[in-house]
Amino acid sequence: MDFSLTIEQQMIVKAAQRMVETDIQPVLDANDKDRALSKDAILKIFAKAANLGMTCARIPEEGGGAGMTMVDCGLITEQIPPTVGLILQPHEATTTRIYFGCTPEQKERYLEDLMTGKRIACTASTEPDVGSDPRGIKTRLKEEGDELILNGAKQWISNATVCDVMNVTCRLVKDDGSSSMVRVLVDPTESKFHAREVDMHGLRQAPLGEVTFSDCRVPNGNLCPDTGETAKLLTVTWLANRPLVGLMAVGLAQRALDAARDYAGVRKQFGKLIGGFQLVQHDLAEIETCVLSSRLLCFNALSAIDRGERANGLSAMAKRYAVDACDRAIALAMRLHGAMGLSKELGLEQMARDVRTLTIPDGTPGILTLIQGREITGLDPFRS
Ligand SMILES: Cc1cc2nc3c(=O)[nH]c(=O)nc-3n(C[C@H](O)[C@H](O)[C@H](O)COP(=O)(O)OP(=O)(O)OC[C@H]3O[C@@H](n4cnc5c(N)ncnc54)[C@H](O)[C@@H]3O)c2cc1C
Repeated sequence: MDFSLTIEQQMIVKAAQRMVETDIQPVLDANDKDRALSKDAILKIFAKAANLGMTCARIPEEGGGAGMTMVDCGLITEQIPPTVGLILQPHEATTTRIYFGCTPEQKERYLEDLMTGKRIACTASTEPDVGSDPRGIKTRLKEEGDELILNGAKQWISNATVCDVMNVTCRLVKDDGSSSMVRVLVDPTESKFHAREVDMHGLRQAPLGEVTFSDCRVPNGNLCPDTGETAKLLTVTWLANRPLVGLMAVGLAQRALDAARDYAGVRKQFGKLIGGFQLVQHDLAEIETCVLSSRLLCFNALSAIDRGERANGLSAMAKRYAVDACDRAIALAMRLHGAMGLSKELGLEQMARDVRTLTIPDGTPGILTLIQGREITGLDPFRS
């Protein structure tokens, strides 16, 4: 077993670091840290991310995508600030869902601009009363002549306020009252809906919104084909999303480790460097262990996905463990800095808020534990 990066992978990491330093961080710094980025700012970032294939990572090369391995995608994700990761990933996952689950006409209309980062996509599944259990979705779609009428509400939707196309999971209701779960593409240039920005604890530059559809008219042609695969399509993208979110946490915790190590090497108390105290060394060892074990679990899950293995348990384990361990690592790094760790100036307090915000999307810790438990036992903890 070889854990070292190939020359090509080292180049991928360097390219990602360069992109962040020269193209992404300046955009983040030029904008209010506590407000969602504007669409213009996001498109500027997407243009650069597209050069590295991050707007179409999972779409095969023959379909015009980057056809990237998930391990390579993870190497780049770890380098990207999570607030950008949380804008890019829903866009890329939605683009992937459109590639694999839409009609040729729908693909023709959207794919190229989405893959090249000229337009922004999002997926709206969560509702005010429907979170961890998407099968309870209530948003209703009804056919009326050559139009579809959409009614309902969606909540906590990444990119909702800036999107050019929203992949909405909903129930198509027939005249006899029966319904089936479907996806429909809602385009703000042709359908009216209300989207409102929601203020969050962390990752505040990433747009997150709540959406209301009130007799929203959608052309018939926007209904995604009924392959019976709506839930499966969501799940397949979640599988890789989870370790990728874990790596966003690792990226933050690595920065916290670097800061803590540097500070321990310059801060003096009791006449000596605090890094020389055994308790401080213990904290540094804990932080490093959290970072490394999280990174290994995430890449382990991604590499299983690349091999085509069933990775439900591995990907759930990786995200749950990594976000939790990295949260702990950042808290320890803050403590090691004393009062300085709590200051806004240093940025550790923002990392603490950001890492905690990663806990919920793509599966809460409780749900991920149950997914792993289901894999271990073969017994379904959700439904009998
Ligand atoms: C930053 C961010 C970005 C997001 N982006 C999107 C997006 O782009 N699109 C989208 O559709 N959604 C998005 N979401 C929503 C996210 O997917 C949901 O918040 C998540 O699925 C959890 O749902 P909930 O918040 O309603 O919690 P709930 O499902 O209500 O859960 C509440 C608590 O109960 C626990 N719980 C629930 N069921 C069980 C059970 N069976 N056993 C044990 N414990 C249980 C959970 O673990 C949790 O702790 C985003 C959320 C955030 C925070």
